[in-house]
Amino acid sequence: MQIQFLGTGAGMPSKLRNTSALALKLLEERGTLWLFDCGEATQHQILHTSIRPRKIEKIFITHLHGDHIFGLPGLLSSRSFLGGEDTLTIYGPKGLKEWLQFSFDVSNTHITYPIEFVEIQEGVIFEDDQFIVSALELEHVIQCYGFRVEQKPLPGELLIEKARELGVPKGPLLGKLKNGEDITLENGTVVLSNDVTSPPKKGLIVTVLGDTRFCENAKLLGKNADVVIHEATFDHSTSSHAANYGHSTNVEAAKIAKEANASNLLINHISARFLPSDIHQLLVEAKEIFPNSHIVNDFDQFIWKGQQLLKEES
Ligand SMILES: [Zn+2]
Ligand SMILES: [Zn+2]
Repeated sequence: MQIQFLGTGAGMPSKLRNTSALALKLLEERGTLWLFDCGEATQHQILHTSIRPRKIEKIFITHLHGDHIFGLPGLLSSRSFLGGEDTLTIYGPKGLKEWLQFSFDVSNTHITYPIEFVEIQEGVIFEDDQFIVSALELEHVIQCYGFRVEQKPLPGELLIEKARELGVPKGPLLGKLKNGEDITLENGTVVLSNDVTSPPKKGLIVTVLGDTRFCENAKLLGKNADVVIHEATFDHSTSSHAANYGHSTNVEAAKIAKEANASNLLINHISARFLPSDIHQLLVEAKEIFPNSHIVNDFDQFIWKGQQLLKEES
């Protein structure tokens, strides 16, 4: 699992930061990737990465502000041209489907693959045998959601030596044991999967929040998460604006991560008011509250090495 930021700016694009989008790459887990938000020119940003649009399986939209959705019609249209055939599922607030449908109709755009729309309600919005995704409403100036992506426990490793000692022959029986099934050998011996596999590994929890002021639901979504991705449109010197405009400061983002007992905080949605020279100070203030904070830039990619989340050096 990897996380790559495609746009980390707030409101409008700047030379250094495009509007919101990030990719949760699940190439090893399911051969696909999930996109969270799709600001204008997200497809241009994708051109600078290894991401292939036809691999996008799901798109989660936090809210309908332009800096989070204006890239959708173009990207969805290009996905057709680039040979995407698999169903794409889009999760978003009420109104998203109608807006996209209208855009396709007036521009005579024909999408060649099925799009499934899911109107977000609070609670579980997706579940399969690998992942469970839930959503809660945040506090912004329009309806806005945050998402919690939980990976289900990963099966333990097969301890081949141990299985062989118990007389399990090479072949499909080993596979059954690895998948949690108990087996009976030809001589009648029962071999329990638990006896020849290591314990299941905890899955990762990734919390992606949309625009929000400091709120309880952000904490709930981020509870014990391996990483919380939180906006910081303002800093503490402008904190009164933050609450009025439905946004957060760097310090509030850090407080959410701390109070949620998260392992890491990635701060995005950075206003163009902040100059590159201001970023260090924003980070210092966040780290005073939550040491594992990062302020992310466009194209930054984060990977897990064991339990540790690291920024990949480009
Ligand atoms: Zn925004
Ligand atoms: Zn917004």
